[in-house]
This record gives sequence, structure tokens and C-alpha cells, in this order.
Amino acid sequence: MVQQSGSDEPEPAGLAFVRMMVREFVRDVRYPTALTVRYLRCDGCGQVTTHSTDQRSISIMPERELTAAPPEAVCDECGHAQPRMVGDELPAEMTVTCVGRRYRRIRAGRSRRPCGQEFAVPATAPRVLCLWCSTVQPGPGEPANP
Ligand SMILES: [Zn+2]
Ligand SMILES: [Zn+2]
Repeated sequence: MVQQSGSDEPEPAGLAFVRMMVREFVRDVRYPTALTVRYLRCDGCGQVTTHSTDQRSISIMPERELTAAPPEAVCDECGHAQPRMVGDELPAEMTVTCVGRRYRRIRAGRSRRPCGQEFAVPATAPRVLCLWCSTVQPGPGEPANP
């Protein structure tokens, strides 16, 4: 989620639309415990990648003012951080079935049981992240093997 850094910032017009998309997505899959994974086109590696972390740089100015930059989304593939923009999140228009394995609930590590959950991803993403077991796996946008 994008955190608003100040209350004086006007809410972006596109945010209501994004919220609606998210609400519909959550209602469709009916798994409210799923991770929130954002697919953005990365400025660093040029691919559609998952961005599961934010970084926020706070610089201390000589006048002892704290300047908080807007949160930046960090690419899971190359570590490139880019500022969030309205509408930068790609719509997830394809459903894939997870090929990963679930985490064991009690012991550490993964169980042998396949995850098999379906989740929606953008068709252009070469690698995707399962919302339930956090397995990174090939996505629909992966270049086909010769
Ligand atoms: Zn990247
Ligand atoms: Zn999974």
C-alpha cells in the first residue's frame, strides 16, 4: 500500500479506481489473507516485476528539517527503487496456477504438498509471486524456450 506522507496531499484521482480494482480482486478470490503483490514495469530492468517492498528515504537537511521522500517501490528482481505513480500498477488479467509448495504451518521449510492456488497476474510478467506461498515462479510473460 502507498502510505500518504502528509495529510495536505490531495488524493490522486486514480486511487479510487485502484481501490475498486483491489476490492473486486479480493472479493473474486475470497482469500482476504493473501499477500498484496504489485506488478509494476521496472525502470531498472525494464521488465514487469513484482514489487513487494517499499523503501522510503528520509534525508536530514542542514537546517535539521526532516524531508521524507514519497515511498519508492523496490523491484524484487533487480532491486531498483522507483517512485510510485498513479496508475503504475498493472492490471492482473490472467490467472495462473501456482507450481510452488506450501510452507509448513508448524515446522520450518516447505511441505511437499503443492500449493496449487490460482492467482491473477499481468500477462506481461515474466516472473510472478504466489500470493499464498510466496513462491517466485515463471509467469505468462516469460520468453518462450526455443
Ligand atoms: Zn527491476
Ligand atoms: Zn503458491
